[in-house]
Amino acid sequence: MTAIGDVPCNGCNLCCRYGIVVLHPGDGDIVENYKTRLAPSPETGEPTIALAVKPDGSCIYLAENGCTVHSSRPAACRAFDCRYLYWIATQTMSRPLRRQKIRHPLEKAVLSQGRKLRRTLTASLTELMTAKTYITKNPD
Ligand code: SF4
Ligand code: SF4
Repeated sequence: MTAIGDVPCNGCNLCCRYGIVVLHPGDGDIVENYKTRLAPSPETGEPTIALAVKPDGSCIYLAENGCTVHSSRPAACRAFDCRYLYWIATQTMSRPLRRQKIRHPLEKAVLSQGRKLRRTLTASLTELMTAKTYITKNPD
């Protein structure tokens, strides 16, 4: 069993092939150490500093054998967990809303990877899921 953020990745790298990796200096990211671009923040839509991407939209640091800056990858990469993404998506969105929001083929693939790996999560998340189920069934 593994904790959140400790994903048994097997090198799929799907989550490195699309999307916006925002840098977080408050979480230890040293902006000057990375190749960056301005991109809309996924939370606010405001321009923010993110990792640069290649013409195909994949991360500038993704190579054939995986991440070339693995030991110094940004906080967002260290924290990302496709299993948790799957959990959030299935626990907080209805099926039609998921279909509407999650449209990019690679995003769907990441969600599918999270679904495949979800049983490797620790008991703490299982407890979280149980709590969420309880709250859903007992809204009062
Ligand atoms: S999609 Fe999931 S399994 Fe694949 S690299 Fe990203 S976190 Fe790891
Ligand atoms: S820095 Fe590494 S882990 Fe982060 S998106 Fe790029 S290739 Fe993936």
